[in-house]
Amino acid sequence: MRGGGIEKMQKLVIASGNAGKLGEIRHLLEPLGIEVLPQSAFNVVEAAEPYNTFVENALAKARHASKWSGVPALADDSGICVDALSGGPGVYSARYAGEPRSDERNNQKLVDALKSRANRKAHYYCIIVLVRHADDPQPVIADGAWHGEIILEPRGKGGFGYDPHFFLPDLGKTAAELPMAQKNQISHRGKALARLVESVREEIL
Ligand code: IMP
Repeated sequence: MRGGGIEKMQKLVIASGNAGKLGEIRHLLEPLGIEVLPQSAFNVVEAAEPYNTFVENALAKARHASKWSGVPALADDSGICVDALSGGPGVYSARYAGEPRSDERNNQKLVDALKSRANRKAHYYCIIVLVRHADDPQPVIADGAWHGEIILEPRGKGGFGYDPHFFLPDLGKTAAELPMAQKNQISHRGKALARLVESVREEIL
């Protein structure tokens, strides 16, 4: 066993209030006998995300949730990284067009930034971090990327965020045109989550 202590893990707090993420994580971890709870169940308030890398923000969120709940915690951090914008908006994806956060204004800003660019390649990126306790020196970390390109005209009504502009050439569809189950299987978050579950399973068995 690598980390120590994970075999005793019966409960896990998710450092997010997002119902969709919670459902996805429950679906994968509850068959392993782990009860998955939102941080609101422990009255944990949202942590700050002051860093300029995904991994630092995810780690800060996981440590914060574990510290205030007293149980192991899982956090994710994700965003869209555009080649022509040197990987931006990256960790700033949610607030790309400033506060208050707005998907519509974020997408408009992205389209404006890429209008005159030939290279519109982009990828979504997700990091997931699990800590067994707030000071865990050996967090379990998994990542996932999902490659596509930005189109200027939105397509589709599903998903959220940048999905109507995130086009997948292999599928001939945007992420907003995919059924949720298909998106969850192939997305950055789906890949990261599957990798994390594999690591956790290795430790449990
Ligand atoms: P967070 O990790 O939930 O804080 O997401 C960061 C931001 O990245 C979101 O607010 C979206 O703008 C963007 N983002 C991350 N994942 C996705 C996705 O699957 N679809 C669309 N936008 C996403």
